[in-house]
Amino acid sequence: MKRAFVIGHPIAHSRSPLIHGHWIDTYRVGGSYEAIDVAPAALPDFFERLKGGEFVGGNVTIPHKEQVVALVDELDPLAEEIGAVNTLVLRDAGVRGFNTDYMGFLGNLDQNAPGWDLGLDEVVVLGAGGASRAILVALKSRAVGKIHLLNRTVGKAEDLAIELGGPIACGGLDEFAARAGGARLIVNTSSVGMKDTRFEGLDLSVVPADAVVTDLVYVPLVTPLLADARQRGLRTVDGLGMLLHQAVPGFEAWFGVRPEVTPELRALVEATL
Ligand code: NAP
Repeated sequence: MKRAFVIGHPIAHSRSPLIHGHWIDTYRVGGSYEAIDVAPAALPDFFERLKGGEFVGGNVTIPHKEQVVALVDELDPLAEEIGAVNTLVLRDAGVRGFNTDYMGFLGNLDQNAPGWDLGLDEVVVLGAGGASRAILVALKSRAVGKIHLLNRTVGKAEDLAIELGGPIACGGLDEFAARAGGARLIVNTSSVGMKDTRFEGLDLSVVPADAVVTDLVYVPLVTPLLADARQRGLRTVDGLGMLLHQAVPGFEAWFGVRPEVTPELRALVEATL
């Protein structure tokens, strides 16, 4: 039987076993998917198990996404550019690391806001942490004219912009009103919105009426940013779809079937939030 996993520390909160378990049942692939708590010091030993053939691959979550970059035998070019790995696949040549957050972000918007990238000139990205890297690389792949990268700590945004290159202009969150007037996509990649937090003084009234607002935070599903955007009549896309879509390429690589993100799967995961 083909076995796959998600490793993290802690790992109990992960919804990945629910997502992959649903697909394993739906497509009858005769595999398994389990959550395994691996502390950072135990990561090299876990890789030996993986290379030994115990698993076909798996997912990697916090806090290991950056550390595994140095442990894989091969790195997908996108994962290399992003600097983080969330999906591992065992191949003849060894373990290959991918970053599917990139595809999850694009797949979510393509499914839930069709046409979002047509003639897209300006975008505002809030947050410059780990998740922001995949989003910036994804946006560059859709030939966005200009990305305004706004972060609480401006220096971190500037470091990221230098590292990734491309049309990225940096600023603080207090520059939102001055920067967002031409932005037809607003993306929150920061953790603001979780645990009753919200952006203070983010004025969505300056945003064009046909803009899409999306949030990577999915607990709560409707963050204060999305609620505000909806109240203003803007199109919104929540972060749960990204979580579901990022799981697709891994399942396909391990079990040989490209799974679908269906309303049934979404309802299953939504019930756990
Ligand atoms: P991270 O590396 O810790 O980065 C956190 C970011 O949030 C930084 O830009 C940080 O700004 C900012 N921030 C934190 N508290 C803030 C506050 N009070 N005010 C303003 N900015 C604040 O985290 P991450 O890995 O990038 O993850 C960010 C969020 O994305 C998490 O909620 C995570 O669950 C979510 N996520 C969702 C998906 C999905 O599939 N939907 C995938 C990946 C991540 P500073 O630089 O100033 O500290």
